[in-house]
Amino acid sequence: MRKVCIAGNWKMNMTPSEGKAFAASLAESVGDVTGNVSVVVAPPFITIPSVVEQVKNSNIKVAAQNMSDKESGAFTGEVSADMLLDAGVSIVILGHSERRALYKEDDAFINRKVLLALEKGLDVILCVGETLEERENGQLETVLKRQVTEGLKDVSPNDMSRVIIAYEPVWAIGTGKTATGDDANSAHAFIRGVVAEMLNEGVANSVIIQYGGSVKPSNVKSLMAMEHIDGALVGGASLSVENFAPIVRYND
Ligand code: PEP
Repeated sequence: MRKVCIAGNWKMNMTPSEGKAFAASLAESVGDVTGNVSVVVAPPFITIPSVVEQVKNSNIKVAAQNMSDKESGAFTGEVSADMLLDAGVSIVILGHSERRALYKEDDAFINRKVLLALEKGLDVILCVGETLEERENGQLETVLKRQVTEGLKDVSPNDMSRVIIAYEPVWAIGTGKTATGDDANSAHAFIRGVVAEMLNEGVANSVIIQYGGSVKPSNVKSLMAMEHIDGALVGGASLSVENFAPIVRYND
């Protein structure tokens, strides 16, 4: 049985003091979740230390929303993998569609970050997903195949145990539109097939594939019932304990 990962991406929300109060309440509410489900939150860089402090005695892991493709040096405004590790981060989200679209991150650039993160000891959540235009033009599979094969280029089968793939159809992010369970499941199955072709069936069967795109308490159960959906990457609904806790506890 594959593990499940429920992750909250706070995006550019939560100052350090807001994040501290929120993380304390989250730790009380879902910090005891164990077993097959792992819980992750991804605060903005500057909020990370206060969140790490609040969740340190819980099972909640802290992720970053991005990192530099460089190790260190004259890269003003960048944050390195070593800095994240030193701050208590264990996972990094890479290739989010907002970074692809707004900051023009391409697959080769994302791949450099994936390889560096893994080499440094961070786990990775690699986001992939098609735009509405690509879906309507029948390019869903071409886009997913390219993003998966180029994003994970040169990742060893061994290191794949530290990689989660998040399928996030861009048209479903922050829009209130959710892919149907069947649509999401078939995209996930396709992604698993791409991983099998690239590496092997064993890796493909064990890789966690999260769904992301307007996940909320009311739709999480039906999404999680799908064979190939192994968790959720949650944006808007991760910003309140009232919404995020029932998503984490979808199985109760
Ligand atoms: C996201 O940004 O990764 C996301 C899935 O956002 P939302 O849940 O708000 O659609």
